[in-house]
Amino acid sequence: METVTTQDVTVNDLPWKIQYDTDRCTRCGNCVAACTFQAIEPVVERRSITLSTGNQPDPISKHSAVLVIKQKNSITQSCTGCGMCEKTCPNQAIKPVRNPDSRFNLLARRGGAPIKRGGRNALSSANPRTLDNIIVGRISQMTDPALDSERHTFDILAPFGRVLPPTELPLTIKNGEINLSGKLPPVNWIYPVIFSDMSIGALSTRAWEAVTLATAYLNEKYNMPVRMSSGEGGMPVKLLESEQLKYMILQIASGHFGWNRIVKSIPKMKVDPAGILIKIGQGAKPGDGGLLPAAKVASHVQAIRGVPKADLMSPPNHQGLYSIEESVQKMFLSMNAAFKFRVPVAIKCAASATSVSVYNNLMRDPYKICGGFFIDGIQGGTGAANEISLDHTGHPIVSKTRECYLSAVKQGRQGQIPLWSGGGIGLTGNAAADAFKMICLGANGVFIGKLLIQLMGCIGNEHGRCNACNTGKCPAGICTQDPRLVQRLDIDRAAQNIVEYMLALDSELKKLMAPIGNSSVPVGRSDALVTTDKAIAEKLAIQYVC
Ligand code: SF4
Ligand code: SF4
Repeated sequence: METVTTQDVTVNDLPWKIQYDTDRCTRCGNCVAACTFQAIEPVVERRSITLSTGNQPDPISKHSAVLVIKQKNSITQSCTGCGMCEKTCPNQAIKPVRNPDSRFNLLARRGGAPIKRGGRNALSSANPRTLDNIIVGRISQMTDPALDSERHTFDILAPFGRVLPPTELPLTIKNGEINLSGKLPPVNWIYPVIFSDMSIGALSTRAWEAVTLATAYLNEKYNMPVRMSSGEGGMPVKLLESEQLKYMILQIASGHFGWNRIVKSIPKMKVDPAGILIKIGQGAKPGDGGLLPAAKVASHVQAIRGVPKADLMSPPNHQGLYSIEESVQKMFLSMNAAFKFRVPVAIKCAASATSVSVYNNLMRDPYKICGGFFIDGIQGGTGAANEISLDHTGHPIVSKTRECYLSAVKQGRQGQIPLWSGGGIGLTGNAAADAFKMICLGANGVFIGKLLIQLMGCIGNEHGRCNACNTGKCPAGICTQDPRLVQRLDIDRAAQNIVEYMLALDSELKKLMAPIGNSSVPVGRSDALVTTDKAIAEKLAIQYVC
């Protein structure tokens, strides 16, 4: 018998254990083929049994060799609980079960490297969400007529671009006629839910295509002006040179990946993009730049980004001359100049203790070049990140959005730089309710990312299931570039799921707008919200009820 040492890893140290029933298993091998993490393997088990079947003891020994499925004792090939084995097993012979005795968090730092995982943080499982403690408590029906959500015409639009106050509009009145005497900053009025920035590279080509397909479908078939952000990493030239570019927000982040192609395509663009989004930071890992592991840098990603196969790390900030303010200013000016001041340029930052100062600085800028402030909270994220950043850095989005809005109100400048909030919108499945509450608290709109991949078939969750988006082994074909795995994703069905969700979201938004009597997006209507939590009521300045 082999000697067991204390430091040996056993299956009981891993976060998930495989429950396997030899009697039900017909050895088809589906589970082993489906497991992208190589967490299980077929092995031959030697079995010996001594039995006596007669009236008198007459023991005989029987030996057999049985093929079984076994879980590996491996930290690097540990089961992620994805459930693909269970899904493909025709006999319900195998399934993963959560292991409460796991020591994985202690063992996974072997080799001295920090733990990485797909972007989901533990905040939501540890604390109830603020948004779930808020309800819509002001019902117009009681005081004045509510609207009919089924038949009333609603104007569900939000600005992307700098909105000038009436006193600053470049208008002159001559002979009783109003004339435009100067340039207006570009503003696009779009649906108040943006498909957030997940790059080609982070997503598989099929997943990215499914989101673009859903975007185009919602616009062209349902007249919903939903916009999609490209994410850092560029776009296919065909899309850059197509009419559908008008549905896209081009993102530029600190690695500037993919911008070579975008800049070269500018002269051939038939239409302008919907906007430019300068990414400074992201909510799931504030202070860290982007990270695309080499395993996901497939040949098409290398071509689009113009890079070799290597870990692609974006720096934590845009490299400027002397200060962040200066480099951001420079970025704004170059982006505005590149598109001849026709395309609104916005900025995306991680929510942090300093977000309000940044927002105020942008509002004070005399050139009025910032066309939107995107704040990304702690509960979002889809890409690869260090676990320590995911679990221990960041800021929740609700109070931060509210602080920015109230600060603008105090200065009489609300609405001038549209506020867009993201990070956990739709976390519990109801993005319409989350969006509505965020809007009532002061956001002009919200952005969603993780929800989209869940609609496409991602089985990861906030309780440690899968979340292996950083490994290139996504079992759902969403966050991988392995052609065999990418085949698992049905583009049309993935796009259809997104479209159907958005149609339902649109109806649900109306169901909330109608009772409070708003036919346009109720930005800042915090009088519509109540909470039974005193601390939340005080922090967000909304009505406490009990
Ligand atoms: S649950 Fe997923 S990772 Fe675990 S053994 Fe099954 S297929 Fe492999
Ligand atoms: S996208 Fe893929 S790898 Fe990431 S959590 Fe979902 S199923 Fe797992």
